[in-house]
Amino acid sequence: MNSSVPLCDIQAQFRELAEPIREAVNRVLASGQVILGPEVAALEEEVARYCGTSHGIGCASGSDALWLALEALEIGPGDEVIVPPFTFFATASAVCRAGARPVFADIDPVSFNIDPEQVESKITERTKAILPVHLFGQCADMEPLWRIAEAHDLYIIEDSAQAIGSEYHGKRSGTLGAAACLSFYPSKNLGAMGDAGMVVTGDPEWAARMTWLRTHGMEPKYHHKLLGWNARLDAIQAAILRVKLPHLDRWTQGRQAAAHRYDALIADMGLEHFLQRPVELPNRRHVFNQYVVRVAFGQRDDLVRHLRAQKIGCEIYYPIPLHLQECLAYLDYHSGDFPVSEEAARCVLALPMFPDLTIDQQQRTLRACADFLGQQIRLAA
Ligand SMILES: *Cc1c(COP(=O)(O)O)cnc(C)c1O
Repeated sequence: MNSSVPLCDIQAQFRELAEPIREAVNRVLASGQVILGPEVAALEEEVARYCGTSHGIGCASGSDALWLALEALEIGPGDEVIVPPFTFFATASAVCRAGARPVFADIDPVSFNIDPEQVESKITERTKAILPVHLFGQCADMEPLWRIAEAHDLYIIEDSAQAIGSEYHGKRSGTLGAAACLSFYPSKNLGAMGDAGMVVTGDPEWAARMTWLRTHGMEPKYHHKLLGWNARLDAIQAAILRVKLPHLDRWTQGRQAAAHRYDALIADMGLEHFLQRPVELPNRRHVFNQYVVRVAFGQRDDLVRHLRAQKIGCEIYYPIPLHLQECLAYLDYHSGDFPVSEEAARCVLALPMFPDLTIDQQQRTLRACADFLGQQIRLAA
């Protein structure tokens, strides 16, 4: 028996839906329409509806989705966009791609999401938008962000790459700002068999602009209205995503059940001081793209080595906050500027998380953590 535990089991969803996925791919191949077309249009409608809004603009990746949303809102040179430093690189780099400047605001230590008080302190006359990330699948604290956005006439663009189906006070991600950016990267909650992404919005004018922008700003053909780029979505990916979307809520329930089992097991095994559990805030639907603990006692990196040696999947999201990334040095941030993000980067650890994760796999994962802790205690004695 294979005793390894994967971090994320992408193949399980394919095994479950192999037949309908093959049929969907064959349908696209037979149609000859392999880029955009009716499969993409149908997916756009279905995902927009799932997110509680009206328009979807399919594109090549979540990174493109962020860039499209910024461009459609005419955010560019001279503008500032407030983003958290503790997120995937694309959140900030999309702002740079649009020609604007990312301005970092530190995160809240409990949720790992952008701290509204920090946001407020970063606003200047150049600020155009706030780009909160719903990190690991839990919505950022939107109520104070809405107040700030209203008071300063700013857009809110949701980075919902990890959070399709997440909710804040009963409102779904996709309806919490001007636009929400989704990624269908294979490890995301709704994953394609390759790269894919989408922007959802309730505004028909922005939707139209994004539709032009993703095909070089063309409208009509060979008339370039806007300076766009090629950010189109493949029909094969759209057809596969359409097969998967009806299963998303069940998979999300599987993730939530696994998260609650981790919570209980960590307590039962007396590990709660070593592995600080993620906090689910009230009035949120957390969709658990990741189950991320804080590892205490400065032992995170040694624990990672121990788990990897035991073939237990784990990952550090994210080891280097964005304000300390080499290519963003021109923004002139320094170590110590965002202490909460820097501390998170030193202690977070994502444990295996996927819809079909079994209690046996979770017990093996946590036993390996307990063994490691036991060794450390013996070494110290
Ligand atoms: C995955 C991710 C992205 C980028 O999505 P891609 O599809 O990989 O381009 C952006 N932001 C966050 C928070 C992500 O997790």
